[in-house]
Amino acid sequence: MTGTRPKPEASAAGVLRVAVDCPLRTLLDYLPPPGESAPDLPLGARVQVPFGPRSAIGVIVAQAQGSALPGRRLKAISALLDREPLLNAGLLELLQWTAGYYHHPPGEVIAAAIPAALRAGQSALAQERWLEITAAGLHASLSGEPRRALRQRELLKMLAERPAGISLTQLDALAPGARPAARALSKRGWSRFTARAADDSAATPALMATPRSAAMAAAPELSAAQALAVEAIDAAAGRYGAFLLHGVPGSGKTEVYLRAVARCLERGANALVLVPEIGLTPQLLERFRARLPVRMAVLHSALSDGERLAAWREARSGRARVVIGTRSAVFAPIPGLGLITVDEEHDSSYKQQEGGCRYSARDVAVRRAQQAAVPVVLGSATPALESLHNVQLGRYRPLPLPRRADQAAAPRLALIDLRAHAVHQGLAGPVTQAIGRHLAADGQVLVYLNRRGYAPTLLCTSCGWIAPCSECDARLTVHREAAQLRCHWCGATQPLPARCGRCGFAVKPVGQGTERIAETLAAMFPDAPLLRLDRDTARGAADVEAVMNALLDGSARILVGTQMVTKGHHFPGVSLVAVINADQGLFSTDFRAAERLAQTIVQVAGRAGRGARAGEVLIQTEYPEHPLLQSLINGGYEAFAAGALAERAAARWPPFSRLALLRASGRSAADALGFLRAARECAGDRPPVRFLGPVSAAMARRAGRHHAQLLLEHAGRLELQRFLEAWLELVGRLRESRRVRWAIDVDPLDIQ
Ligand code: ADP
Ligand code: ZN
Ligand code: ZN
Repeated sequence: MTGTRPKPEASAAGVLRVAVDCPLRTLLDYLPPPGESAPDLPLGARVQVPFGPRSAIGVIVAQAQGSALPGRRLKAISALLDREPLLNAGLLELLQWTAGYYHHPPGEVIAAAIPAALRAGQSALAQERWLEITAAGLHASLSGEPRRALRQRELLKMLAERPAGISLTQLDALAPGARPAARALSKRGWSRFTARAADDSAATPALMATPRSAAMAAAPELSAAQALAVEAIDAAAGRYGAFLLHGVPGSGKTEVYLRAVARCLERGANALVLVPEIGLTPQLLERFRARLPVRMAVLHSALSDGERLAAWREARSGRARVVIGTRSAVFAPIPGLGLITVDEEHDSSYKQQEGGCRYSARDVAVRRAQQAAVPVVLGSATPALESLHNVQLGRYRPLPLPRRADQAAAPRLALIDLRAHAVHQGLAGPVTQAIGRHLAADGQVLVYLNRRGYAPTLLCTSCGWIAPCSECDARLTVHREAAQLRCHWCGATQPLPARCGRCGFAVKPVGQGTERIAETLAAMFPDAPLLRLDRDTARGAADVEAVMNALLDGSARILVGTQMVTKGHHFPGVSLVAVINADQGLFSTDFRAAERLAQTIVQVAGRAGRGARAGEVLIQTEYPEHPLLQSLINGGYEAFAAGALAERAAARWPPFSRLALLRASGRSAADALGFLRAARECAGDRPPVRFLGPVSAAMARRAGRHHAQLLLEHAGRLELQRFLEAWLELVGRLRESRRVRWAIDVDPLDIQ
């Protein structure tokens, strides 16, 4: 299926293969700038290149003897922006591997790994502002100018004595308050401000590890299981090894990361610590700061461009010894990398789901560890089935932490049959009774419901009309506090109507969201302070932190929330957890829904309990006899996982096969499906992969576009990769592709 390339034309100066931020699936060939020869230009350096009618900044990825392009069509690099590589060889290789594995344009993958300011051509080194004297200034100073401004005259004299200039930091120290004078001199043309690279050479790792041990928090004595884990990771230093640290919430996984990172630092190497959520970075950073006397850099998506650039430079220079970050931090430049840890490795936020290259930061982390020959630790209370399978295959070494560090007993899980009890506003009798009992016994209550808003449906009680989104196939969610109807798919909002849009009769909200459950519970238990935590109440990490603190200090007694409550925090005072609706995960068309449900239940259950007081967990369901729920209740996550893996093997789903999903959206169903059909056809009559589809997505119309998909399956990763390589080349050239937006998702998490 591949076209044959013309024979490369030799070129005396050699050719450079450059990644330019554009949707092309290939690197672009350029000649070296005049007077330079290709082998002298560093790989990983940025260059300015002519690109169509404009000029672009790219990164040199490879050198070549010749190009498939005829010599006269080859253009020369217009400028070399870095003498030292911006990206070192290891990182460059990792980025290319990522582009190749996820079949995404390499220029875009590399660009996404570089802070915006550097993509615009700014220096890779940290910058400092300097003040220096001009020739005119020197002249003026010699003749005693400016006569009437004393401060300016003194400053000019000072600058004349320092022809190399002075950094503003130094100036502030030597002559406090001299900045207005400096500005005035610069206006006269007697001095000028410049930007210079800060001195990176002083930042050797050993010097930065300023020992602050005296102020450091004391480390707890490790349990036997923790000690074994730390020793195993430490013993793997200097070579590749993947570990699955598997322990219930509160079993001391974070303590193991901390110790393993400390050992890594002692060896003089640096560490990369990945967390799934921005909201968890401050918490983890605090814990690491309290224990490790080194500089750390934090990288996540909520940073401003300036903050990201600063953190990136800290990491790249080696000044930061530990880099803590979310998904994209897996591409952080880290010299002397010695260890990678991935907390909550099952978390779906490690996978980029929309836009750009759809990579899994966990899987890229494992790849990075392989390339750098360092250990990688994946930790979770509820490992992904893929990871458990990798343990079975002997690819990952298991490090079990069987007990909670605080000795709390395991929570007791029970199913509440929604068909067998009176249900008031979504709450079954036994659940409300249990809430009352726990509040009376000084406990706290956590209520989990994966649906925000007041009610998922607004219904006309006369004609049956349901408020729809005009742009999506979705129903609009009622948000009563905001007095709005909102579409959770496209974000559209409108005022909450009092009457039916069709017949004018009264409408009523049907079903429960967090807002409504909170309202019901507040009315039932007026003396218990209640808080809600979902994307409507918490906009940023600070809001989440405030709610968590209120629960920790006891000022809140009931917390109602979405997925956000299942992550990171441990609440010793919580004695009861209620899961309002388990059934969304039981009968989904997505084969991963059950795994996600089990993970959520175990994670939310793990938030509760302290000491001898075991937490109680009540799960509302209409299907208490469902085998998945039964195995989870009776055998825990391990039993569930064993059953679920057997089902996956029988159905040939991952991890027993490899998937890729070709997604497309167009103005009409015909456009989207037509493209996917053509894509399937261009693979020939007997393709080496199994195709499923094309079909419209479960929520087909979203924001006015029709979404559809074509699933590809093969038992072997390599075979699937090889097929995609050749096939996507053809897909990109299909006439039908011009009418759609399409993207390939390798190892998709969400296949609905
Ligand atoms: P996880 O990351 O598995 O949820 P953590 O490392 O956060 O667990 O540990 C849970 C709690 O137990 C924390 O408050 C931690 O300080 C404490 N802890 C962890 N290990 C020990 C230990 N060996 N001895 C005493 N307390 C510990
Ligand atoms: Zn009506
Ligand atoms: Zn919508």
